[in-house]
Order: sequence, then C-alpha cells, then structure tokens
Amino acid sequence: MSTEPRTVTVPTLDHGEITIPEPAWCAGHEGQPAGCRSDFLHRSPARAFAFRGKQLGAAGLVQGPFAEHASRLTEAHLTLIIEGVTLNPVGLYDLAGALDRYTDRLRDLADELHALLGGGR
Ligand SMILES: [Zn+2]
Repeated sequence: MSTEPRTVTVPTLDHGEITIPEPAWCAGHEGQPAGCRSDFLHRSPARAFAFRGKQLGAAGLVQGPFAEHASRLTEAHLTLIIEGVTLNPVGLYDLAGALDRYTDRLRDLADELHALLGGGR
C-alpha cells in the first residue's frame, strides 16, 4: 500500500486543472462540474436523516482549501427540514426517537471534525 498522500485532479474555470491533496474522508469528485477554485469543496459522505422513508436532512464535513473566508475552511454542513408534519402521539414519539438517534450521528460527526481540526478528546 502506498504511503504517498492521495491526490485528486479537478478542473476549475479560473485555474484550469489543479492537483491537490485529497483527504481520506472525502467522498471524491467524480462527475463534479468545474467551478471557481475558491468554491472547490472536499465533502464527506452525507449522514442522511430520514423519517418514515423520507429524507429530511443530511450532514457531512466540508473543507474548502481555497476558500476566501476562513469560516468555510473546514466545518460541518447540515441541512434539516421538518415542516408541515402532522403526527399523532405515536408518530411524534417515533420522530423524537429518530431525532435522538440522529443527534448521536451528529455527535460522531462533531468528534470527526474536532479530530480533523487537530483537537484531542
Ligand atoms: Zn476531495
């Protein structure tokens, strides 16, 4: 097994093809359309939140090695939409249970992000 750092070559609109280190946690860039280098993001696989078979959200790590704003450099990205849901008590307990389980996955993601940023536990 190679000990060389993994790299990825991606097309950009403003800098042509660029070859950069690829974090082990990145899901890859196959089929990703070219954009500006400053908008390039490494993305981890998404941790989906689903309830009753419908995806209501997802969370994952993102890293913009050329981001113009430091706040976008390495963080977690989260989308969660629960609206217009009408539930009886059983359904509400089910949703609460699903959210409980998802918060555990978010804590795991926070641990990964913390480690990625060099923090210890
Ligand atoms: Zn990547």
